[in-house]
Amino acid sequence: MKYVSTRGAAPAISLSEAMRQGLAPDGGLYMPEAWPHIETATLPADLVSVATAIVRAVAGDDPLGGLATELCPEALRIDAPCVAVTDDGRLSVLELFHGPTAAFKDFGARFLAACLTRVSGARPLEILVATSGDTGGAVAAAFHRRAGTHVTLLFPEGRVSPLQERQLTCWGDNVTSLAVRGSFDDCQRMVKQALAITTLGADRDVSSANSINIGRLLPQAAYYAATALSAHRQHGERLSFIVPSGNLGNAFGAIAARAMGFPVGRVVLAHNANRTVPDFLATGEWAPRPSVATVATAMDVGNPSNMERFRALFPTVGDLREAVSAVSVSDDDIRRRITADAKRFGRVWCPHTAVAAEAWACLPEADRRERWCIVATAHPAKFAEVVQPLVDEPIAVPASLADLYGRPTSFTTIDATATALVDILTGR
Ligand SMILES: *Cc1c(COP(=O)(O)O)cnc(C)c1O
Repeated sequence: MKYVSTRGAAPAISLSEAMRQGLAPDGGLYMPEAWPHIETATLPADLVSVATAIVRAVAGDDPLGGLATELCPEALRIDAPCVAVTDDGRLSVLELFHGPTAAFKDFGARFLAACLTRVSGARPLEILVATSGDTGGAVAAAFHRRAGTHVTLLFPEGRVSPLQERQLTCWGDNVTSLAVRGSFDDCQRMVKQALAITTLGADRDVSSANSINIGRLLPQAAYYAATALSAHRQHGERLSFIVPSGNLGNAFGAIAARAMGFPVGRVVLAHNANRTVPDFLATGEWAPRPSVATVATAMDVGNPSNMERFRALFPTVGDLREAVSAVSVSDDDIRRRITADAKRFGRVWCPHTAVAAEAWACLPEADRRERWCIVATAHPAKFAEVVQPLVDEPIAVPASLADLYGRPTSFTTIDATATALVDILTGR
């Protein structure tokens, strides 16, 4: 299996090479030449078994294929339960917040770390990561103290939640935390620009752990595949997913699972007030714009990088409209939904998950009779300053998050320019 760039102007390479590079040299994102079809009839439906089958199939003769039985249990022993929300079970929630940093980013980050530390050569590996809040913590947790690696993470100053900031700045050792005077889009642009500077790679391999890295997407495909397969075995119906979306990396996992033959039904991209994707589906015009700040901060993205993968797979807007639908939800709707669902279902959503819950509540009555699963991308305790005032019950803090409060934090504040980032990287 070869990996090709969405922009078509980079050589086809192996899976491990694509993970090491992160971004393709032509500025595109790597995708497998074709998604393999996976035979599901005799496949056990647990996450580790499904992930192992997927990694074997997408690796082909790459060494990572042979390592799948070792990598997947190591990285993906994280609970990902799909729990009924309504009494009839037609609405369920896939809880992706049981990992060490309580957001779905743990799956991709841990898998990437497990792969990269095995396929890296003798040179040190520098991982750059732009974060809107959750990725940086997950990547830092996954790479912290791994020999031969260094992580530099960039977050938008003052635009992450207090707990997220703690999670981004409490590591030290081989992790450098940078607060950027700008937005998440600035952070993402700085990483892309730095990756394009070839002299940086003179004495080290430089890669990205953002969802531009194909290694992040594979485990994300696996949890949709496993959840849909087990629902299909139980009920004989396809399971449709509503995915709280920003950069569209998580949602692309659902698309990849469907492309490999798993019984994923519809996929709804649920956005906050950053409407670039819903507007594109409505008008057919791709108009990236600066992000606007919302209460679902991890989804404040105005130029979602994984759209490039969607457009490579679905070349016309007509194809895309058949593959997915998209909605946008306001902050007021998010707040009301958190309060309403805590009362009605006894479930407390994080603000991102509430975007998906709102999208479900707004579906036409007839559609709601199908089998739906909203994706819970983070634990509400990570966003307690937003959520707690909206619900009566105190929000319990998972042990992994509680531990953070005992640790010292440190970070450096820099301007939103690639030069400022490169100065840090070369000055160390
Ligand atoms: C990153 C993140 C999202 C958005 O995921 P994308 O893959 O960027 O679309 C949604 N919710 C939470 C809690 C996140 O951390």
